[in-house]
Amino acid sequence: ITTYENQKVLVLGLAKSGVHAAQLLKRLGALVTVNDVKPFEENPDAQTLLDEGIRVITGGHPLELLDEDFKVMVKNPGIPYTNPMVQKAIARKIKIITEPELAYEVSEAPMIGVTGSNGKTTTTTLIADMLNADKTAPKAYLAGNIGIPASEVAEKVTPADVMVTELSSFQLLGVAAMQPHIAVLTNIYEAHLDYHGTRENYINAKMNITKNQTAADYFVVNWDEAEWQNLSQRSNAQIVPFSRLAKSKAGAYELDGKLYFKGEYIMAADQIKIPGAHNVENALAAIAVAKLMQVENAAIVKVLETFSGVKHRMQFVEEWQGVRIYNDSKATNMEATEVALKSFKQPIVLIGGGLDRGFTFEPLEPLFKAHVKAAVVYGETKQLMAKSLKAAGVAQIEVLDTLDEAVKAAMAIVTAGDVLLLSPAAASWDQFHTFEERGDRFIEDVQKNIQIGRA
Ligand code: ADP
Repeated sequence: ITTYENQKVLVLGLAKSGVHAAQLLKRLGALVTVNDVKPFEENPDAQTLLDEGIRVITGGHPLELLDEDFKVMVKNPGIPYTNPMVQKAIARKIKIITEPELAYEVSEAPMIGVTGSNGKTTTTTLIADMLNADKTAPKAYLAGNIGIPASEVAEKVTPADVMVTELSSFQLLGVAAMQPHIAVLTNIYEAHLDYHGTRENYINAKMNITKNQTAADYFVVNWDEAEWQNLSQRSNAQIVPFSRLAKSKAGAYELDGKLYFKGEYIMAADQIKIPGAHNVENALAAIAVAKLMQVENAAIVKVLETFSGVKHRMQFVEEWQGVRIYNDSKATNMEATEVALKSFKQPIVLIGGGLDRGFTFEPLEPLFKAHVKAAVVYGETKQLMAKSLKAAGVAQIEVLDTLDEAVKAAMAIVTAGDVLLLSPAAASWDQFHTFEERGDRFIEDVQKNIQIGRA
């Protein structure tokens, strides 16, 4: 463990992770300065940090700050390496780390790290739940990109515990010494190329998760694409594949609707509660990790049979009069809604719409045609969505103003055997602060309408 006692540290960027990193460093005895480009009033935690004896500099990135003898800079993952402050820190040979790296230095527990383009949160949560469902397994602490800063967890964990950490490509860009005992790569799709520049840079960032691993560690990797198989050659860890298409039987795989780990039967694929082929992949990744951690099969099976999804991500809400209701408020773009629509064999009554980002919904038309029985659209994009639904031949389309109205209308349309799905294919900001708020409102509306129906 690195000692921070009396060391000068600069925390660059005051988002949630920066605040927690600063507080952790302060507790470790460091002399902490935080710096954010936004003015003081726009940093909700600035006053708290000041009160705690942390030096706070806001409203810009003064380059002369780096003339002081900082030992380490903890950089917010969202600030690019091209930022002049970061460039100067590099030139001055100040060690630059990100918040999860700091947490890794401080924590005494082994780390399980999960990265990938999609399925990170689901897989991370499944792994932690499986470990915690087996009383003989190490106690798992969720951390990272999942909304619980790793530096908040780092001091709590003991060597007998394990930190199950979701890691974004941004966080991984800055890996120095971080060495997960088990690293998971769920998949790689085109994403965040605006930040990383090229696909190769994006892949390199993700592959940092295994950079420091040795033969005593494990790299769990999706085997269903040749590109991902090849990436495993860059790892020094023991490779543990998972494959929905049974392309390898050396790890976790699905064959004829059954899930196995190295030939041992675990459970039937259709017993997994969260729907869709993508969730079979997430389940297989989690099974591989759980088996490596000696979790008993009963605990693995129980979690997969009961886990109803991460909140707002294809979250199973309720079965009502033979209709299964799902909240996929996290689907803030077309790609996510595409995955959602593909997940069901049942006819879907879709609720969609939200912030207008100036694109049309044409790419979704084939999926509307194949899966959507009726739709209710609301929000800024309602007319654009209605147009594509119509073009796809969806028979019943209602165009309304608010989510409340949309839920009421959709619940009047559904019949037994349908799926009622909120998967907006748009951000929430036209009517809500966050996708979480939108999803919570959806669930409330559903419950309210069920009650009214009963009364
Ligand atoms: P992440 O944390 O990587 O954003 P989540 O587990 O939160 O991933 O899932 C977000 C959305 O991504 C889901 O609602 C689903 O639409 C899609 N998704 C989840 N897992 C996968 C997967 N394994 N492959 C492709 N898409 C996925």
